[in-house]
Amino acid sequence: MSTVQLAAARLAAARLAPARSLLRCHSARLSSTAAAAPPSSYRVVVVGGGAAGLAVSSTLSEKLGANEVAVVEPSEVHYQQPLFTFVGGGLKSFKDAQRPTADVIAPQAKWIRQAAAALDPAQNTVTLADGTRVGYEYLVVAAGIELDFGAVKGLEAAIGRDGVASNYSPMYVQKTFEFLQAVRGGNALFTMPATPIKCAGAPQKIAYLADELFREKGIRDRVSIGYYTALGKIFAIDKYAAAMDAVARSRGIGVHLLHDLVAVDGPARRATFKVLGSGPAAGETVTVPYEFLHVTPPMRAPGFISRSALANAAGFVDVNQHTLQHARFPNVYALGDCSSLPTSKTAAAAAAQARVLKHNLLRQIRGAAAADAAPAAEYDGYTSCPLVTGKHKLVLAEFSGYTGQPHETFFFNQANEHAFSYWLTADVLPAIYWRSMLKGTWSGPAAIRKVANPTGSG
Ligand SMILES: Cc1cc2nc3c(=O)[nH]c(=O)nc-3n(C[C@H](O)[C@H](O)[C@H](O)COP(=O)(O)OP(=O)(O)OC[C@H]3O[C@@H](n4cnc5c(N)ncnc54)[C@H](O)[C@@H]3O)c2cc1C
Repeated sequence: MSTVQLAAARLAAARLAPARSLLRCHSARLSSTAAAAPPSSYRVVVVGGGAAGLAVSSTLSEKLGANEVAVVEPSEVHYQQPLFTFVGGGLKSFKDAQRPTADVIAPQAKWIRQAAAALDPAQNTVTLADGTRVGYEYLVVAAGIELDFGAVKGLEAAIGRDGVASNYSPMYVQKTFEFLQAVRGGNALFTMPATPIKCAGAPQKIAYLADELFREKGIRDRVSIGYYTALGKIFAIDKYAAAMDAVARSRGIGVHLLHDLVAVDGPARRATFKVLGSGPAAGETVTVPYEFLHVTPPMRAPGFISRSALANAAGFVDVNQHTLQHARFPNVYALGDCSSLPTSKTAAAAAAQARVLKHNLLRQIRGAAAADAAPAAEYDGYTSCPLVTGKHKLVLAEFSGYTGQPHETFFFNQANEHAFSYWLTADVLPAIYWRSMLKGTWSGPAAIRKVANPTGSG
């Protein structure tokens, strides 16, 4: 099949999708000329059953019917990762943050219990880890972002022992509280890498919880807390950066900008940072001894995505930032941490993206009549980062990553530490996550904002 014919086939799947049987014929025709037909095929395949993938697949499987939607997800356990900060800080149990995947995946969806190993959008297939192929008419990619502990010299050997922990991994999140409790004095270091990461506030949140813990134990004067970030400011959005600078100052936490963790010597308990930027020390390295080290590892797009035709230059799924439709393959969408969307990667962002994606994909599936009846939905870059600063204190950052402006839900100044914001994040949002977001019925606080703070101003 020529490139032109393939492009025409893709357009057929994308634009002329009203009749399912027609598309099934199309798939068969594609397969017979190019490769053997995949043993199974679905109207929609969702790769990844995390926060974003389940928010999308629940609604789609309900609307499209049983076994029309398949979810490719290898993990038997689903983690509510926003709770990991609380687990690491000793405020929630690890059990609170997990459920069996079987309990959270929509009953009408077909769960394929494997990892995707390759994506072939020209053939409309996903290859699984065991080599079998799964066909689709529409693909949604929601496979998250990969932790890359190996990118820091010595880190793979050091993590999980001798005072080195990370809230970012279910394997090491419980180590954070265990090692924090063992601290008697010395340096407690918290790092933030130069790569894109999920929840860009989490690297510093745990520093505030550690500060509070050390104060409660009466050892704060014996512990020096340092936040080492590869970035040039403490938080991307000016309003919240000013608030967090003030919080760090008031707690006596040293903020070291443009310091990128490059090596960890576990047995000697020493962390080495490279100084970034263009200042007099740029390019030099600084080695700091520690008693406790919380690492936020560098992250990258999953390899099976970055190797595929769906990736942009940075390896993430190359989608239109408003419609979430792929830039070159119109029957492909992506959302959440694996997408190219230029906003902060959070579950809050994924919830808002899920609403837009579902609207636009269903509109496309239903064809021209639906397209005439309703305009395409557009994502505005909304995201939220609840910056926990203590047991009952939290700065509730809400903003658009597209405009860099606050987009707050409530009428009070959310840059101030509030007990209400803490309660919302620690107790209300986790329940919403299990009961509503994963079932596809929570798409963020827009409706509340309309009443509580109609302009969204911060
Ligand atoms: C410590 C920490 C604190 C956080 N705090 C907050 C917060 O306060 N607020 C907030 O909104 N967000 C927070 N987040 C971020 C939030 O958890 C993520 O942004 C969100 O989970 C993204 O959803 P996702 O579906 O894109 O990725 P994930 O939820 O990570 O899901 C990706 C899924 O894809 C699966 N997968 C991976 N590879 C493959 C493959 N090859 N084939 C098939 N499936 C695959 C994985 O098993 C996983 O189930 C935090 C994250 C962490 C780690």
